[in-house]
Amino acid sequence: MSASRDFKGGFSRRNFLISSSCFGAAMATVRLFPLPALAENVLQDKRVAAQPLIDKGFAAVRQVGTGIYATISDVTKGFTTVCNGGFIIGREASLLIEGYSGPSGASFQYDALRSVSQLPVRAALDTHYHFDHSMGNTYYGAHEIPIFAHAKTPPLMIEKYANLQGQDKAPILAPLEKRVQDARDETERQHAISDLNAYKKIFAVIDKYMVGLPDHPLDPSKLPMTLDLGGTSAVIETYPGHTPTDIMVRVPEQNIVFTGDLLFNGWYPVAFDANISGWSDTRSLAITDGGIEVQVGDGMPGFIRKSDLSRDRSEQRPDRFAVGEKVDAKVTAVDKATRKLSLSIKAREVEEEKKAMAEYGSSDSGASLGDILGAALKKKTKDDDDSEG
Ligand SMILES: [Zn+2]
Repeated sequence: MSASRDFKGGFSRRNFLISSSCFGAAMATVRLFPLPALAENVLQDKRVAAQPLIDKGFAAVRQVGTGIYATISDVTKGFTTVCNGGFIIGREASLLIEGYSGPSGASFQYDALRSVSQLPVRAALDTHYHFDHSMGNTYYGAHEIPIFAHAKTPPLMIEKYANLQGQDKAPILAPLEKRVQDARDETERQHAISDLNAYKKIFAVIDKYMVGLPDHPLDPSKLPMTLDLGGTSAVIETYPGHTPTDIMVRVPEQNIVFTGDLLFNGWYPVAFDANISGWSDTRSLAITDGGIEVQVGDGMPGFIRKSDLSRDRSEQRPDRFAVGEKVDAKVTAVDKATRKLSLSIKAREVEEEKKAMAEYGSSDSGASLGDILGAALKKKTKDDDDSEG
């Protein structure tokens, strides 16, 4: 189901968030949220290409940034992909996002990537274990593409999908069928039918395809990690919420985030295995409150992401800064469409340290802070002497 985030719509003005949907919710809400309205929202962003790269009805791939493409599904026209995803192309390699609901969905996205880039594919990433994000993994595996996912994704795919393959699903469907029979009115009956149908579709997918387990489980304690694709970084972050396995991919240079199912647009999020309080923290920390808004010079708008607030992780708190306070930061990107700047205090600190190192010592020569300070003091004394002489 199409679920592109319109970031002008009030959720967040600064990030272009591409969210994906889950099947159950999609089934229930198709009639409430006509797709053309969503598509119009997406097209309001100047970075989003008006013409799709490829449009097969069940999904369209559109450029949304430099080397960044979004795959937006439309389940009213088919279930080949179901969720939303995309890919990121750097100068040296690319990254595919989502395994979709079957190998033909993964194949669709791989072909779209290959129509614009022949660079090596560094990895394919499942944002979480749900079937519509992972059941096409075998296609990537057959192309020798490493599959990245949260470390809990493979065991959950075994428990929830592989273990159900070939099993009788009637006992699981029975209570859902009873709900249809027991419905007190037509609305309740329709709701129950839509849930029952969603489960039947999921089971059909599970029985149809081989389960392809991610071969690169990511230890959450080692995240975030950055994949350097050559001039473009894909920052892989994990947040609690929709499932125990959620991962987001951020491209900091372009303020674009692939959120998986951590964001739903226009309908109630699918929450049957969610951690609701964690999810709420994620929304405020990672998405809505991800940094500070600043004004540069004569009022040009800018934004400093939370992770760019300091080199020191414990200092990366927006609440450290007061309204009206002046900060020193380096401009790291300019968005041509919105004329908004991205800035980084961290980048400035790193640059300052590099300068100091170049002048007074090198970080790999084993020089201690004392050595460096000593050299700096000596140099200062010498400069003072020089100026006197
Ligand atoms: Zn999901």
